Amino acid sequence: MKQIKLAIVIILILFTCMVIDDAYTYLQHQGVFDYLRFLWPTSQIGWADLPQATSLDRCTDAPFVVPTDGWIGITYGDSILGTVNHSGLDIFGLEGNGVTPVYAAYDGFLTRLPNWKSAVVIRHPEDPIKPNRQIWTYYAHMADEAGNSYIIEQISPGTYELPVKQGMLLGYQGDYNGGSWRSVSTHLHFSIVLSDEKGKFLNETDLLNTLDPSPYFGMRLNSQCADRPPTCRQDFLCTGRLG
Ligand SMILES: [Zn+2]
Repeated sequence: MKQIKLAIVIILILFTCMVIDDAYTYLQHQGVFDYLRFLWPTSQIGWADLPQATSLDRCTDAPFVVPTDGWIGITYGDSILGTVNHSGLDIFGLEGNGVTPVYAAYDGFLTRLPNWKSAVVIRHPEDPIKPNRQIWTYYAHMADEAGNSYIIEQISPGTYELPVKQGMLLGYQGDYNGGSWRSVSTHLHFSIVLSDEKGKFLNETDLLNTLDPSPYFGMRLNSQCADRPPTCRQDFLCTGRLG
C-alpha cells in the first residue's frame, strides 16, 4: 500500500513538472520572460545563459550587420501583456550602461536632431530589399536614465546628413526611457522606418511606419514566427500569416 501511495505521489510530481515545463516553453516562445526582464531591469537572473547576437555579424546575402551585442529579446510586432505592437528590435547587452557598442547597420547619412539625447537616425537612399525606395534605420536608448548621452562625441546634437559606413561606431547601449515613469534595461532599440512623401522619416513608434527587419538581417525577427533566439536562415519570412 505504501509503495502504491509513493508511486502515485511520484507520478503526480512528474506530471506537474511536465505541465510547468510545457508552460515555461510556451511562455518562453511568446517572449514573455524577455518582456518581464525589460520591465524589471533588476531581474538579471539567467541573462548570462541567453544566446547572444554578435555585433557586426551578417547572414549570407543579408544587407544589414547586427548593430550591437546582446540578447534579441523583443522582436518586431511583439505585443506582450497588452503593450502596443513593437516597431523594431530590442537587443539587450549584458554589460550594463555605456559599455556595449552600437554600430551602423548599413551605409547611409546620419542625422541627430538637436534635442535627441539617446537616438540617431540614418537615411538609406536605396533600400537594399526594395529598390527605388528610401528607408531609415533608427537607433535609440543610447543614454543613461538621466539623459547623459552615450552617443560618440563626433555625432553631436544637430548633426545632419553625416555620411556613415556600415559598421561605424555610433555610441553605446543605455537605459534612457525618455523621462517615462517606467525604467528599462540597458538595450538598443533598432527599427527600420519609412519616409513620408517629402522624404522625411515617419514616426517610428507606429508599426505601420516601419518595416519587418527579417529580410534585412536574414533572420526570423517578426513576432508572428520569430525564432527565439533568431538565427540565419533562408526562409526568414513568415508564411501564411503576416509575411
Ligand atoms: Zn524597443
